[in-house]
Amino acid sequence: MPTDKNLELFERARALIPGGVNSPVRAFRAVGGTPRFVQRAQGAYFWDANGARHIDYIGSWGPMILGHGHPRVLEAVQAAALDGFSFGAPTEREVELAEEIVRHLPSVEMVRLVSSGTEAAMSAIRLARGATGRSMIIKFEGCYHGHADALLVKAGSGLATFGHPTSAGVPPEVVQHTLVLEYNNLAQLDEAFARHGAAVACLIIEPIAGNMNFVRASREFMQRCRELCTQHGALLVFDEVMTGFRVALGGAQAVYAKQIPGFAPDITVLGKVIGGGMPLAAFGGPRAIMEQLAPLGPVYQAGTLSGNPVATACGLATLREIAQPGFYEALAARTRGLVDGLAAAARDAGVPFAGDCEGGMFGFFLLPQLPHNYPQVMQSDAPKFGRLFHGLLDRGVYIAPALYEAGFVSSAHSDEDIAQTVQAAREVFASL
Ligand SMILES: *Cc1c(COP(=O)(O)O)cnc(C)c1O
Repeated sequence: MPTDKNLELFERARALIPGGVNSPVRAFRAVGGTPRFVQRAQGAYFWDANGARHIDYIGSWGPMILGHGHPRVLEAVQAAALDGFSFGAPTEREVELAEEIVRHLPSVEMVRLVSSGTEAAMSAIRLARGATGRSMIIKFEGCYHGHADALLVKAGSGLATFGHPTSAGVPPEVVQHTLVLEYNNLAQLDEAFARHGAAVACLIIEPIAGNMNFVRASREFMQRCRELCTQHGALLVFDEVMTGFRVALGGAQAVYAKQIPGFAPDITVLGKVIGGGMPLAAFGGPRAIMEQLAPLGPVYQAGTLSGNPVATACGLATLREIAQPGFYEALAARTRGLVDGLAAAARDAGVPFAGDCEGGMFGFFLLPQLPHNYPQVMQSDAPKFGRLFHGLLDRGVYIAPALYEAGFVSSAHSDEDIAQTVQAAREVFASL
């Protein structure tokens, strides 16, 4: 029997790294089986430790919007590395990256670069609290904003009660200012602001929630979030770590601005695509708010590797590529083609299926209709999803190993890749 290099590596990893992975979802716990250890990647594909090729619909969970190893990005990273890895002093590329971000996001006048989405969201919340002088934050069930203590929280038993920690090690006092509401629930939102409005520093939301697969905030819901924040002096924080430069050049806020005249969030949190696969994230907003940050203002925030020269080179080269005319139209058409193809294959096999997409981000559910909130998402058939996941994996198609995760298409995915994926899905659906 040939040796399974993935299994061998997983066993070695498990002896030294908790669960064998450095981020939990990679361990395949939701679907079972052996994680694929990636050896190398190019374009739309990666090759695992056994040398098997996979069409990659994770793309590092979103950053790889140009596919792997894009020549101009690679060139920029190599050139930057030759000039030095890190200085702890400012560089021109940080300015250029800030200019590029501000150019595409009308709501952002100033930006601070950090190293992870977690750090960006955590800092944005500190900024919102510092700028408003208030403590309370509102978040929504099913939205993920990184693993800062105050955000690892689930809903309490009623609106009058605050959340409970979802992780050991988070003291209840740390989440006592976090109110968790149901996504897309207007009545709860109204009630929360009626009761607590004057104490709310910010409402943080994933506008298109990619951490419960793919769930859009309705236009009405988003408009109400904006109105209530304005009315009560709270800041609307858009966590666009996943959607920023992914669903459109202007992010999800551009999608909502088309539906709601004059719409803009107060603070935007970015990550994933803006680093192009390197550890880089950011948060930004209007000058008056951002000037509350140290060294100008009283809100402290810092980072040894913030604005890292190699990471900024990678992000900058990526953003310059995706700003080319027609980029998102082509990406969106290919993504739509994938979702429509999967829907047709499921329909022919009589498998319940509902899918959605925006730009280069997609999601699908083994449900007759698209869900609107987390409890509905969790009605998806997990065992059936596990069989679908492994069926696709066996056929060289790599989707997220959990039913509550979104999927990503890159500009390197060809029509042929999409067709192969749909054919693989057709075979698997027929066996479900
Ligand atoms: C990925 C993600 C984060 C966390 O980013 P990390 O870089 O993993 O810390 C935060 N918010 C959203 C919406 C994300 O998708």
